[in-house]
Amino acid sequence: MTPGVRPLVAGNWKMNGLKASLAEIEAMRKAVEAGEAGAAELAVCPPFTLIAAAAARLEGGPVTFGGQDCSPHASGAYTGDTSAVMLKDLGATYAIVGHSERRTYHRETDADVRAKAEAALKAGLVAIVCVGETRAEREAGEAIAIVSRQVRGSTPPDGAPDTVVVAYEPVWAIGTGLTPTAADVAEVHKAIRALLGEIYGAGGATVRILYGGSVKPANAKELLGIDNVDGALVGGASLKASDFLAIAAAY
Ligand code: PGA
Repeated sequence: MTPGVRPLVAGNWKMNGLKASLAEIEAMRKAVEAGEAGAAELAVCPPFTLIAAAAARLEGGPVTFGGQDCSPHASGAYTGDTSAVMLKDLGATYAIVGHSERRTYHRETDADVRAKAEAALKAGLVAIVCVGETRAEREAGEAIAIVSRQVRGSTPPDGAPDTVVVAYEPVWAIGTGLTPTAADVAEVHKAIRALLGEIYGAGGATVRILYGGSVKPANAKELLGIDNVDGALVGGASLKASDFLAIAAAY
């Protein structure tokens, strides 16, 4: 945790969720409104097909929501894409950009990710910029260098502390049940914090840095208690309200 920073626990549903899953979103809202979810802000990022319906269920409540990606463009002839302006129009707060699955399967570069983050900020959204090393990069001792390159290349230089969130997600920890040691998480988050100071000056001290990769109710307390870990980006365990709320309860 970082003193004075409200943690964010964000759920990344990836390409999961059908209409019936909206009941989970309703359950999240109810629990947060009943004061059962701890002190963190809860956000949910469902697939685009569910966002409008999720928005209707979350309107006026404490649970925020966002998209899992956004176009670098505001509108126009970009078949299949969704813009940050459209997300904002539905009442979204966040756009996740640069998730490792998009960097891998859609070959997104740091420059692509930065363009998307800038589009998110321009539309009035907060960009959740994802970074993280592969297993081979960690074993080669390059984790900090890779993550530093990604943070420098992918964060919007003009972002303010409350319009940018960085999510450190080691690629090898995503969906695998593996997690780095607490010392490794602490080391990377400290390096990210120092870099954010270089990029944003004093404001870098309060940018939220999330940890992501196999966060579950059983390991949330340990992972989320580490210095400079200001919340979590949760994949698999965010699909069920009960698991997601149990993770948030770490705060
Ligand atoms: P996971 O995914 O929690 O299922 O490991 C995290 C993510 O990819 O954001």
